Amino acid sequence: MSERFATKVIHAGEGRGKPYDAVTMPIVQTSTYAFADTEAIVDFLKAKDAEVPDRRDEYGRYSNPTQSAVERKVASLEGGERALLFATGMGAITTLLLTNLSHGDHLVVASSTYRQTRNLVMDHLARWGIEASFLPDGSLGDLERALRPNTKLILCEAPTNPYLRVIDLERVGAIAKAHGIVTAIDATFATPVNLRPLDHGIDLVIHSATKYLGGHNDLLAGVVIGSAARLSPIETLRGVLGGVGSPHDAYLLLRGLKTLDLRVRRQNETGQRIAEFLRDHPLVREVHYPGLDAHPDHETAARLMAGFGGVVSFEVEGNRDQTSRVIDALQIPYIGPTLGGVESIAQQQSIFISLDPAKRPKYGISDSLIRYAAGIEDADDLIADLDQALRASVAKGEDE
Ligand SMILES: *Cc1c(COP(=O)(O)O)cnc(C)c1O
Repeated sequence: MSERFATKVIHAGEGRGKPYDAVTMPIVQTSTYAFADTEAIVDFLKAKDAEVPDRRDEYGRYSNPTQSAVERKVASLEGGERALLFATGMGAITTLLLTNLSHGDHLVVASSTYRQTRNLVMDHLARWGIEASFLPDGSLGDLERALRPNTKLILCEAPTNPYLRVIDLERVGAIAKAHGIVTAIDATFATPVNLRPLDHGIDLVIHSATKYLGGHNDLLAGVVIGSAARLSPIETLRGVLGGVGSPHDAYLLLRGLKTLDLRVRRQNETGQRIAEFLRDHPLVREVHYPGLDAHPDHETAARLMAGFGGVVSFEVEGNRDQTSRVIDALQIPYIGPTLGGVESIAQQQSIFISLDPAKRPKYGISDSLIRYAAGIEDADDLIADLDQALRASVAKGEDE
């Protein structure tokens, strides 16, 4: 029976017959696993050499039953053969890139990316003799020209942060296939509720599970999903680099995933409503949201995605201080980095980039930009709060 997404988030990957007849997957809080005798070790090693799936566990850096349950669930949600859990999203990204790239190889970064991904490529991969080309968002027409004989990987992200650009994954996948190049996407902002990149011809999907997959602002984790053949060498390197998730975080992620469908559907609705409200607001200059007709990638997003997500970026009428006043006047969201949890979070992105105004322009983030990541609170409350904050910031500015 091919189950639908909302059934899979609850049951996929867990199986029946858990220890002690527990309904929920236990947290197997152990660093290692004991063998009955030497023969049991020999049997295990033979199974390992033969790559028998679902083998018993050996040592916590290689696998853990709570971790394996969450990996099976995420693989099922993305429609992939396998998934691997990491301690953080960056653990997933670094391990994937280091597995697929060697000295002398070339990488194309086909969209803007998370800042630390960019830093990894520019400051570290470069030290190890791996070259990279970066395509600006909206310039997919240049992808073929950016390829070189030694290009091994095309990496992209969708929707991007903070302008929520959505690259045409089908074109990326087709171009890469024609040249025998592996493709990977950081789809953290999309979630498998809204976008399943493997269905659109991408080879490997990455998530910072810290965000929507966990969904409660209480854990750090990362995942990579793809075919068993592509994941096997990544798993080997994970065992070397050691960036594995803890059993406790694996459990929290498993629990968070059960409400993924409910949460993200709500966040899609709230995101669209907030975007439309801000679009029509006199104190807002511009709204960046792929669910709006005016967004440059609206058509691509509408074709590839089932929903547009809970993050809305917008530019306030006014300067940097005016924008800070809006943030400070908000009553419901927390102020801070991150997104994707049940609590709404807002931030003035340029402040997080650098306090030095000279350093900010290279990131192309306007001083007036606010990234608003809706949680699952009541949408009317969030909108009323945004309205009062925008108005209060003007009144306060006039007082000063
Ligand atoms: C947060 C984030 C990351 C990094 O994930 P961590 O879990 O914080 O290591 C990577 N990519 C995107 C798009 C993110 O939002």
